[in-house]
Amino acid sequence: MSEVYYFRNEFLPKEDVRISPEDRGYYFGDGIYEVIRVYKGRMFEAKAHFERFKRTALAVRIPLPDMGELEAALQELIRQNAVEEGSVYVQMTRGTAPRAHNLNADTPPVVMAYCQKLSRPVDKMEKGIAAATVPDTRWQHCDLKTLNLLGNVLLKQKALDQGADDCILHRDGSVTECSSSNLFIVRDNRLVTHPADNLILPGITRNVVIRLAAELELPVEERALTVDELLGAQEVFLTSTVQEIVPIVTVDGKAIGGGTPGPVTQKLQQAFERLILA
Ligand code: PMP
Repeated sequence: MSEVYYFRNEFLPKEDVRISPEDRGYYFGDGIYEVIRVYKGRMFEAKAHFERFKRTALAVRIPLPDMGELEAALQELIRQNAVEEGSVYVQMTRGTAPRAHNLNADTPPVVMAYCQKLSRPVDKMEKGIAAATVPDTRWQHCDLKTLNLLGNVLLKQKALDQGADDCILHRDGSVTECSSSNLFIVRDNRLVTHPADNLILPGITRNVVIRLAAELELPVEERALTVDELLGAQEVFLTSTVQEIVPIVTVDGKAIGGGTPGPVTQKLQQAFERLILA
């Protein structure tokens, strides 16, 4: 059966989605997006995702659709695609206009969404992954979830080219995040993660982990951390909507902790699992 997409306020088969070559998302990457996890057929942390979507839209000056209608449409899309466990991707471009750098107030935004069936990445969550440190050469608005992901794509590829699974980015001596996830280290039994400023995406999963840490009475420091602190950490893990909490067991070929997922990471994974299965 064909996948059902949501496009310009309609539900239609993927094959019938027609993107204009003049869509600003297509030639400028001029648009924003969200990826929301679906567990048991429901959107997880939907409110936080819609708040971030609104914040990004405001920052890049794309007018918002009716958010209540959008949320209802996404839930209907999940139903029509019969997704129990997976994700829903929603993007909104500035609309269609001949190529010109000025903003054009007359172009209505184009909203498109689709679902994916996905299992939780259990193998990676249990065994961990290898990361390579790479200089963070992205722009200064990494807090905005825009379609312009070429920086992230090329930086991830640098890590893959070195045989690692993902990059850990650093800028001016501070570790920021990974190609599509936030980063935490464990030091002296405290969690340390980069502050949610313009240099990282304020991850929804990052926030959930900070909340769970408070419940588990694990102190959290949101501060700049150095590459040396990273390499000397007891534990390192990444967080994202799709990946949840994944241990990083080697960095630049050096084992972190014992080179296996550590107890603090595992405790957080268990707490996260209790939350999503509740
Ligand atoms: N940082 C970047 C660069 C990302 O692309 C993502 C994934 N959206 C994240 C962090 C994690 O954010 P979230 O937990 O909201 O998925």
